Amino acid sequence: MRVTVFGTGYVGLVQGAVLAEVGHDVMCVDVDAGKVERLKQGIIPIYEPGLVPLVRDNHDAGRLNFTTSAEQGVSHGEMQFIAVGTPPDEDGSADLQHVLAVAETIGRYMERHCIVIDKSTVPVGTADKVRERITSTLAERGRGELTFEVVSNPEFLKEGSAVGDCMKPDRIIIGSESDDAIEAIRELYAPFNRNHEKIIVMDVRSAELTKYAANCMLATKISFMNEMANLAERLGADIEMVRQGIGSDPRIGYHFIYAGVGYGGSCFPKDVQALIHTAEGIGFDPKVLKAVEARNLEQKTTLFDKIHHHYQGALAGKVIALWGLSFKPNTDDMRDAPSRVLMEALWQAGANVQAYDPEAMEEAQRLYGHIDELTLCGTKEAALKGADALVIVTDWQAFKAPDFDLIHEKLSEPVIFDGRNLFDPKRIRRKGFVYHGIGRA
Ligand code: NAD
Repeated sequence: MRVTVFGTGYVGLVQGAVLAEVGHDVMCVDVDAGKVERLKQGIIPIYEPGLVPLVRDNHDAGRLNFTTSAEQGVSHGEMQFIAVGTPPDEDGSADLQHVLAVAETIGRYMERHCIVIDKSTVPVGTADKVRERITSTLAERGRGELTFEVVSNPEFLKEGSAVGDCMKPDRIIIGSESDDAIEAIRELYAPFNRNHEKIIVMDVRSAELTKYAANCMLATKISFMNEMANLAERLGADIEMVRQGIGSDPRIGYHFIYAGVGYGGSCFPKDVQALIHTAEGIGFDPKVLKAVEARNLEQKTTLFDKIHHHYQGALAGKVIALWGLSFKPNTDDMRDAPSRVLMEALWQAGANVQAYDPEAMEEAQRLYGHIDELTLCGTKEAALKGADALVIVTDWQAFKAPDFDLIHEKLSEPVIFDGRNLFDPKRIRRKGFVYHGIGRA
């Protein structure tokens, strides 16, 4: 099938490449000319395991193409995916300007019936706005006779495993009341729906809300565990023991119940905020969501508070080795990352940071290259040189079994702040370290 994808970020590029991989003819459109040029040359702007060969092979095979020309994009596809960003506006609501700009573009250039598929995470009611924008643009052109459908098809991929998630989705949500559109999208996704039925058809508004409900539920699990961690610390318990104890109940399960330094990334913070905004906009008080967000904001400062407490506030001139800049492992994404909150607080307090991340160094350079108090180091060992303490912020595999003798030797004082509870406190203390975890008395 002929598919157009607007937006070549984490969602658009990965979905476009995966759809091309199974044989669809995909045209990706982006307003970022530099990005499009690099993609044409096989240079992939994001780190995502498995993405480089997928994009290059399908581009070479002619099934995956890139353009900045919206006109070319609209004329290519019988399906038009919207996969552009929906960042938070100042009031926390989802900013729909990019989504609606694409809708207008589609209205401006479409010449035949098409199915518009919204993959961006958007508030309930956005499909109506997209429909209105296309309709009014068609009317301005005097082409009101052209027909189209707007479908909600939210994306559930996880950064760090996006290719695998799209190749083998847990579920494919289709929000539509049009039998023809549903059938066409079923055909599009048939290669991903072979082993067992993954497609769930529902009305558009339910599909739009499903995406927010999923992210808010996951954020709730994290904030709940962080709340338990705070209690554990104060009550003389160990959250890691508690985690194992509760995870064994199948109604709770082991997934996603790790205490840590708070959730970050480009989705959970903004989606929780956006749903709060939606709820308040209709006069409903979202008590749980507000608590989830408040707990998270506090949790993001927990590492700094521990460091501050350890040094009794005397942080000026201290050198902190920091392992992990991305908001989670296997991505280079630093949007809303807990590492940023920590580094900014450390700099404010007069400390210097020597940071290492397996993939996010370029992004850190882009964001903080101008900060004198930050040294970006080529290896995790280099970050330790001349440092006073080690702080672990992201649970990359490469940090899980480090050379503790080397860490001990390099640090001026053997102290580890472990924001992801990677280590066994007893074992670490036996090795002569002062150890601060999360929720571990
Ligand atoms: P992103 O910021 O990585 O990429 C968005 C891309 O859209 C950019 O390349 C930008 O240049 C492009 N763009 C903006 N306006 C455009 C226009 N008018 N025409 C063409 N391209 C345009 O965003 P992302 O992380 O891929 O997220 C996209 C959407 O998917 C968001 O709504 C997000 O909430 C949702 N989502 C993201 C994830 C994730 O893990 N990143 C997962 C599920 C859903």
